[in-house]
Amino acid sequence: MNFHEYQAKQLFADYGIAVPAGRVARTPEEAVDAAKAIGGDFWVVKAQIHAGGRGKAGGVKLAKTLDSVREYAQGMLGQKMATYQTAGVELPIDSVLVTQATDIAKELYLSVLVDRSTQSITFIASSEGGMDIEQVAAETPEKIQTLNVNYIQGLQAYQCRDLGFALGLTAKQVNQLTKIMLGLFKLFNEKDLALVELNPLAILTDGNLAVLDGKVDSDDNAAFRHPDLVAMRDIRQEDETEVKASQHDLNYVTMDGNIGCMVNGAGLAMATMDVIQLEGGSPANFLDVGGGATRERVTEAFKLILSSDDVKAIFVNIFGGIVRCDMIAEGIIAAVKEVDVKVPVVVRLEGTNVDAGKELLKNSGLAITPADDINDGARKAVAAAKAA
Ligand code: GDP
Ligand code: MG
Repeated sequence: MNFHEYQAKQLFADYGIAVPAGRVARTPEEAVDAAKAIGGDFWVVKAQIHAGGRGKAGGVKLAKTLDSVREYAQGMLGQKMATYQTAGVELPIDSVLVTQATDIAKELYLSVLVDRSTQSITFIASSEGGMDIEQVAAETPEKIQTLNVNYIQGLQAYQCRDLGFALGLTAKQVNQLTKIMLGLFKLFNEKDLALVELNPLAILTDGNLAVLDGKVDSDDNAAFRHPDLVAMRDIRQEDETEVKASQHDLNYVTMDGNIGCMVNGAGLAMATMDVIQLEGGSPANFLDVGGGATRERVTEAFKLILSSDDVKAIFVNIFGGIVRCDMIAEGIIAAVKEVDVKVPVVVRLEGTNVDAGKELLKNSGLAITPADDINDGARKAVAAAKAA
């Protein structure tokens, strides 16, 4: 689950990490009130969406008067914003964060994540942070520092100091960085987070470090033990179909192709998407209906896939390991009848009771194209989508 910047900064503050004074606002008037309450004469107005890249998309504005705070808030609120991180999707700006503005001397990058290859919580840092960090990673990877935290020992202060000196910080800044990193490590563990990113972590002209941006992503598998985090969820920032899918316990991710996929098992679902690509097509979604695919879930899955107008063909690829193919076939037939599927449906069944399943599909009177195996199914689905 993703969080807004203002929520991330609240979490940081809860763990003793200093953040610039700020307040969230939902109307231009509230933004002006926020600026007045913060005080000073230099503010930043920031669009709150679940994506970075806002600076380059006009979602981060520096304001030197209350009138410009109002004007910038007015310009953002109620609009939708796409950034290079949103893959073409426009996210609604329902709120802005107004913060005290700071004078930046240099922008650093700091993040925490779970590194699967080393099986450890890992800090990634760079002295070249800011809006072009992706470019730094691609072109000058030697400027990125990595620190794997030992699972038993936990994060040690000396490791933070080493990292700080490697980033070229002064002794005072190194102490500030250490406090930030220890706080982030505690936050990361206690809240079961998947990612925290501070970009920029700025060196100000007065020499102090300041957390100017914050991205947090939490591990959904641990949501049950963090009701405080769940309460911060903003489903308006999430993909509508994915939200619906999660309500039915379906594992669904929207993609930008035109072949709807219904598969059981995440591994088979990934392989199916690969084979569709291999055959020259492109998947409209990832969908794992799960091992216990019942008639109801198959129906819901069809509804989800068909909620997109982009879908020109559906490829059902089911391996009957735990479930029986005849039961799946009944589910498919019921779903196709109930949902009134108008696009071609290619079905590949394999596994337990496969012959009975195929027989049912054949006798159903529905225009379902049977496939022999995954490659044959992908080929037929791609051809059907191209013909549409
Ligand atoms: P992002 O583009 O979505 O990652 O949004 P950020 O919060 O990182 O802001 C983008 C850029 O705006 C930063 O990299 C900074 O250069 C600039 N910025 C953000 N806050 C301040 C501030 O307090 N003062 C100044 N001068 N620039 C800021
Ligand atoms: Mg940023």
